[in-house]
Formats: sequence, C-alpha cells, structure tokens
Amino acid sequence: MSKGPQRIRGTQDIWGEEADRFQAVVAAFERIRRLYGFSRVETPVFEATAVFSRSIGETTDVVSKEMYTFEDRGGDSLTLRPEFTAGLCRAFISEGWQQLAPLKVATHGAVFRYERPQKGRYRQFHQLDAEILGSDSPLADVELLVLADQLLKDLGIAEGVTLQLNTLGDAETRDAWRAALVAHFESHRADLSEDSLARLDKNPLRILDSKDPRDRPAADSAPDIDAFLSHDARTFFDKVTAGLDAAGIAWERNARLVRGLDYYRHTAFEFVTDRLGAQGTVLAGGRYDGLVEALGGPHTPAVGWAAGIERLAMLAAAPAPAGIDAAIVPMGEAAESAAIGLVADLRRAGIACDMGYKGNMKKRMQRANASGARFAIILGDDELARGEAAVKNLVSGEQANVPLAGLAEAVRAR
Ligand code: ATP
Ligand code: MG
Repeated sequence: MSKGPQRIRGTQDIWGEEADRFQAVVAAFERIRRLYGFSRVETPVFEATAVFSRSIGETTDVVSKEMYTFEDRGGDSLTLRPEFTAGLCRAFISEGWQQLAPLKVATHGAVFRYERPQKGRYRQFHQLDAEILGSDSPLADVELLVLADQLLKDLGIAEGVTLQLNTLGDAETRDAWRAALVAHFESHRADLSEDSLARLDKNPLRILDSKDPRDRPAADSAPDIDAFLSHDARTFFDKVTAGLDAAGIAWERNARLVRGLDYYRHTAFEFVTDRLGAQGTVLAGGRYDGLVEALGGPHTPAVGWAAGIERLAMLAAAPAPAGIDAAIVPMGEAAESAAIGLVADLRRAGIACDMGYKGNMKKRMQRANASGARFAIILGDDELARGEAAVKNLVSGEQANVPLAGLAEAVRAR
C-alpha cells in the first residue's frame, strides 16, 4: 500500500467503466423524470440535525447509529444528509412550495451513513430520489411506481427484480394493528433478539422485517394488517393495486414489509433482486403523510422513493464506450499550431476529438489507434499549404485529402 493519503473507509473513487455505468443510471433517471413531469431540485448536502432526527425518527437505525453529525464553527449541530426526503420536506416548508402542490420533484446525489462497509453498502453512497408532495391521491403512488418500473426496464435490469408492496393503513388502522402486534410480541418475549425487545416499546412494526433469525418465528406468525384495515385504507390500497394492474406492472404482496415511523401511511414498497446478495433492495419508498407536519409545516400528504445508484449500476450493463470521433495528428511545429485552431473548430462543431500534447507522428498514430477514434486527421506542412488535411479511417485504413473547411462535415458524413 502506498504511503500517501488513503481513501476514507466506506467511500469510493469511481472511474472508468464503473463511472460510465454510474452516469448511465443518472442519465436514464434524468430522461425519465422529465417524461413524467418531475422537476429537478437541488437541496443542501447538510441540514440542521433536527431536520433528520425529527423526520426520520430517533428510534431508527439511521438516526440512532448512522448519521454523520458534527458541530460547525458557530456551534450549530449539523448532519450530512443520510437521505433526501427530510431535506426536501424542509425545503417544501422553507421555500413556500405549498402553493405548488401537488409538486413532483426529482433529485440525486451523495448521501452519508455510518454503516459497516461491504459490497453494495458504503458510507458515502448515491441515491436517485423522486417525490410527490401535497397529494393524497393513490394515483400519485401509482405514478411513482410506474416511473420506477420504467427506470429499471430502461436500464435493462427489470429481469429478476420484483416489486413488493404492502399497506400500512391509515392512522386508525395502524393503531389497531400496532396494539395487536405488541400483544403478539409480548407473548413471545422470550424468543426475541435484544434489538427486537428494544423495538417492542418504541417501534414494534420493525420487528416484522427483522433479519435476525431468532426473531423470524415470532415475526412470521404475527398478525397481518389486513384484519385491521379500515374501509378507507382498504379502498386506498385497492386503488393503488388497480392502478398498477392498469399500467401493466407486476407486483407481489409482502405483508412483512414495513416502514417503522408513525407518519408512514398506506403504501410501502421495495424493488428487490436476488442478484446482489444481502444488499438486494435497489429501490424503496412509500407514503409519508405526516412528515411535513412533523417538521412544523402544514398537513401535507406525500409519497416518494429512493434508489441506490451503486446498486443499480452494479446490475446495469456497461454502456458502449463513448470514444472519440477523431484524433488530430500534427506533423511538425507549424502544423501543431494550426492544429490548435482546427481542434477547437471541430469541437465547436460537435465533433469529439483529441490531440496529444506531444510526440512524433508514429507515437501519435499509435495513440490515435489505441484511443478507439474512428478517424485520424493528419496535418502535414504540405497539406496545410494546400488548405487540406489527410483523413484516415482507422478501421478500414482508407485515406483521403479533405479541405480544412469541410473537415467537420467529412467526419460526420463517414
Ligand atoms: P438497507 O436495508 O439495504 O440498509 P435501507 O432501508 O437503509 O436499505 P433506504 O433508506 O430505503 O434503505 O434507502 C434507499 C436505497 O438506498 C436502498 O434501497 C439502497 O438501494 C440504497 N442504500 C441504502 N443504504 C445504502 C448504503 N449504505 N450503501 C449503498 N446503497 C445504500
Ligand atoms: Mg439501512
């Protein structure tokens, strides 16, 4: 290992083909969010710590163990965003976006969680995020799910990924279900893990999706929400599933899928694959009708999802290397100086081209071939004197002289 500075554990230097895949995921998301009329927003990488602790909830792993929290020089407690939703809800309140409701927004970027790094799990990772703020319609949930499905299909990774869907009901439903769950788990206290015993008081729903094998028998035999669904909650869920069916989206009911926080309502979902080992959730979200209010804003029903860009990129095929159209090969000093103008003109005309900073003709031709460029544009003093350049097709080996003014045209045409 070199003695120089090292990358911080859980962070990544993304380059080469991996960077291309990463960009392909972002580009697909950007294209599709426009098709669905989602506007792009940018929010800060850090917020007041309370923005996350109040909205994500003190009892979650994210807030209790995973946040990067620090005091700045002014003595304020700040936190690097562990997700986008909380900051977007804060912005909804502070920027007065209520007037724009229902507001469809999309963003992406780095998020930070202090987790144990492993494949598909980092301390700085990147998310795509799509949210609809200010709508209580099940059609909003459907639209977000159809968007997610189209993204996975566009990336060519929908194969082997399943949409798992659940409902967490409305407030009435949830209170009744929660009481039944607490009663059930109380009677299985002796079988539960320490983590789940702690959850029993604060966050009993979370026991349902515990990954600890000791919890599974009690979690699997716990009552489903179905018996407790109010008429409204049942109707809402039926509209979501009918919408998915109408859009031709396959889904599976997973009655054990939960989001722990009190303000989560109705729809909860995950797109899951078995191709990434333990890190199989690529995209997850749900409806969070009480979140904006929990942050001190007006009552604002909302729904959204986030997806890990790294996990999507691991599944996606590498895009064809972009490559350049032409390599410029000047022969001699006079030609080199003329080539500076020429390469600038070609790039302004939209031709991807490159010129090495030094080297003789032979070296430059070798590099042109290695670069994957389709053409070498060779500039010698004689050609320049005639106002021409030699254009060599590096695949076929054909070569022809072309007037300088027609170079961009010629490269494009061939
Ligand atoms: P997990 O169960 O994998 O910890 P989570 O429930 O914490 O996921 P969310 O908060 O719902 O995940 O985040 C949405 C998505 O972000 C996940 O589905 C996953 O694709 C990605 N993700 C979450 N944590 C990480 C991480 N530490 N490194 C890379 N990607 C992550
Ligand atoms: Mg997590």
